[in-house]
Amino acid sequence: MIFYHCLTCNLSMHPVCAMRKVPFFIDHPKSHPHPLTFFPTQASLVCHFCALIKKLDPTYICTKCVFVIHKGCIGFPHVIRISRHTHRISFTSSLPCGKLSCGVCHQQVDNDYGAYSCKKCDAYFVHSKCALQRHVWDGKDLEEVPEEDDMIDDGEPFKRIADGIILHPFHCHNLHLQTTRAYDENKYCRGCALPIYEGQFYSCIESDFILHEHCANAPRMKRHPLHPHPLTLVVATRGPGNEEGTFQCDACHRKGTGFFYEHHTDQENIFMLDIHCASIFEPFQYQGHEHPLFLPSEPNKWGRCQMCTYEYVDLNLNCLECDYILCFHCATLPYKVRYKHDSHFLKICNGKEANDQSYWCEICEGKIEEGTERAFYNTPKKDTSFYKCNACCTTLHQRCLLGIDTYMKPGETVKDYLSSIKYASEGQSKESITDVRILLNSSLTRPICTRCLCRCPFPIFFKGHNTIFCSWDCVEDSAMRSYQRLLYSFISG
Ligand SMILES: [Zn+2]
Ligand SMILES: [Zn+2]
Ligand SMILES: [Zn+2]
Ligand SMILES: [Zn+2]
Ligand SMILES: [Zn+2]
Ligand SMILES: [Zn+2]
Ligand SMILES: [Zn+2]
Ligand SMILES: [Zn+2]
Repeated sequence: MIFYHCLTCNLSMHPVCAMRKVPFFIDHPKSHPHPLTFFPTQASLVCHFCALIKKLDPTYICTKCVFVIHKGCIGFPHVIRISRHTHRISFTSSLPCGKLSCGVCHQQVDNDYGAYSCKKCDAYFVHSKCALQRHVWDGKDLEEVPEEDDMIDDGEPFKRIADGIILHPFHCHNLHLQTTRAYDENKYCRGCALPIYEGQFYSCIESDFILHEHCANAPRMKRHPLHPHPLTLVVATRGPGNEEGTFQCDACHRKGTGFFYEHHTDQENIFMLDIHCASIFEPFQYQGHEHPLFLPSEPNKWGRCQMCTYEYVDLNLNCLECDYILCFHCATLPYKVRYKHDSHFLKICNGKEANDQSYWCEICEGKIEEGTERAFYNTPKKDTSFYKCNACCTTLHQRCLLGIDTYMKPGETVKDYLSSIKYASEGQSKESITDVRILLNSSLTRPICTRCLCRCPFPIFFKGHNTIFCSWDCVEDSAMRSYQRLLYSFISG
């Protein structure tokens, strides 16, 4: 490849780029009221918009105001909405004095240059470079857009029929408000897939549809710091557009069968967030840590979660005061749970706490240790947290109590997608064969998993046509293997 190179500055340019004309004057009143002049020496002046020195972006100046701006920064948006703040923010070229910190990266904002600020909040500032990141800003300049036009509907998410009776858009019968009297381990919420431990819930008289009161109140639309566009509440049901009847959360990567928030970025890409992860906001007050936790300023940063000790590449919650890191998977495990043979709540504990004690799990009778890798489940993910009742000293592995498909609800039917491809390519239409029922593993003899041949250890198991699986991983693994066998027989004729 031919290119131009400057030995003094160690700078290379494509021939096309080198020949591109750089205008000497630029008049852009929206960015600066006076005409701007090209400044020939690169990499020496800091831009008043982005507060950076950019080697490869031509610099323009206004000598009257001693104003500096990059060519690429001319035309910057004046009013924007970012995912990390509830109000609109606007660009301001003069910042107040004092120590200001950026609402996205939490680093100091230099008062000598411009930044975005919130007119409604007292001291909310964001670096221009942080505000315009693709995962934070939706790319829209809202200067001409009236504030009402980008408000989202915050009305009640259901129809109120009478006092304590509602009609929820995801169910066809009326739901009645009730109060939990005793913990019933067979009652699961259709929204979050967790049991009803305490408090109020809505239930249907004609079917087993139940919702926690707070799940019924989940808004139909919501903004979330993890995504620049507003998200819509949907429920995972098998039907057009959701063949499997499940979804996978983009924050904790769990499969779920309940309510989730989505945004169709384009035809193929859908951003999905389960209602557990959607409830996490900044600053996040995690009950197991003394300081508030924040989202990283940029995605795809490595970090080792202190709870599960697993190293995550993408989303973590970070503590600004110490080096505590929590992954979304652990942040959304229930903090306190009930166990049918204990009359109290059990609290989540970090595996490290088990080191100096000898704790045994009441379900599998195995030892609770830090970083124990479970023999029956071939995943590299470690299981270090456990639940403990402080009154009775009952201790349980987190996985033995909640399973690994924590947010898949018993009673639902999902579709094994890979198997359906297999049957379709065999020229058979065997719709019901690919149906998988999620069942409560409550009988005295635990069924044996067709795939890994263990006795299903978790609170739920999956029942297919002539098959039993202990986990969704085994369902998919088994489908993948038979699909590969089919492909192989196809290739080898
Ligand atoms: Zn700039
Ligand atoms: Zn910043
Ligand atoms: Zn604000
Ligand atoms: Zn719920
Ligand atoms: Zn999630
Ligand atoms: Zn974790
Ligand atoms: Zn156990
Ligand atoms: Zn299995």
